[in-house]
Amino acid sequence: MALLQIEGLGKSYNNESKVLNDISFNVKEGEFVSIIGPSGAGKSTLLRCINRMVSISEGEVIFNNARVNTLKKRTLRQLRTNIGMVFQHYNLVPRLTVIENVLHGRFGYKTTLQGVLSRFTEEEKERAFYLLQKLGIEEHAYKRCDQLSGGQQQRVGIARALIQDPKLVLCDEPIASLDPNSSKIIMDHLKQITTELGITCLVNLHQVEVAQQYSDRIIGLNQGEVVFNGTNYQLTEDK
Ligand code: ADP
Ligand code: ADP
Repeated sequence: MALLQIEGLGKSYNNESKVLNDISFNVKEGEFVSIIGPSGAGKSTLLRCINRMVSISEGEVIFNNARVNTLKKRTLRQLRTNIGMVFQHYNLVPRLTVIENVLHGRFGYKTTLQGVLSRFTEEEKERAFYLLQKLGIEEHAYKRCDQLSGGQQQRVGIARALIQDPKLVLCDEPIASLDPNSSKIIMDHLKQITTELGITCLVNLHQVEVAQQYSDRIIGLNQGEVVFNGTNYQLTEDK
């Protein structure tokens, strides 16, 4: 049984022309799948439909046996605790520390002010430190996020996405703002930690080579349509 099923998904913003058209694919539990395609292909929109950050215009998104289209407020919150998000621009709170940002991923309501670490249980903090250690940034736990490099900030972003032990993590162009060296570090960590924790991963990328290297499967998107779904994406198809 697939963890994520997408069937005939269509999306238009404000009743304008469709930016996604008749998208269908499945993602199995534990798979690492990349979505590749040029800017404007609809990759971000596709991820936003999966966690219902935007409304779904047509078709079905079924996650963990729930019809995402029809979820009400409370079950929608539940859906989002099962889906972690990683962003191109990290989306951290710059004046908070690393550890506060990570805990924010699950327990956001407790971190409206600086210096509220004491409100977290030992277990909550242990999980956060475990992730930071796995990602090689434990030593920066008490630094403000705006003192870290881009690559380090993205590792904080990954830890925050994983703090709630989600079933799925959606990564929207996680390396698009990083140099090649930091990009490799991020992709290595992302692959390793999600594999180890058994978390399914769906990653938007625009570099075919990176997708080839890390993914179990690649989905090619162009002008809102699936143009490829398989393991061996040929560079010549990258139009
Ligand atoms: P990608 O992530 O592949 O670059 P996007 O999903 O960001 O693609 O964008 C696909 C198309 O949808 C683009 O034409 C973009 O301008 C449009 N779009 C994205 N977000 C919005 C929005 N909030 N309102 C209107 N149009 C949008
Ligand atoms: P990114 O590719 O990093 O997501 P974008 O510039 O595509 O950045 O989008 C930034 C924000 O602007 C997003 O929230 C997106 O939904 C919105 N957006 C993108 N295209 C449009 C558009 N044509 N009309 C309205 N909003 C848009």
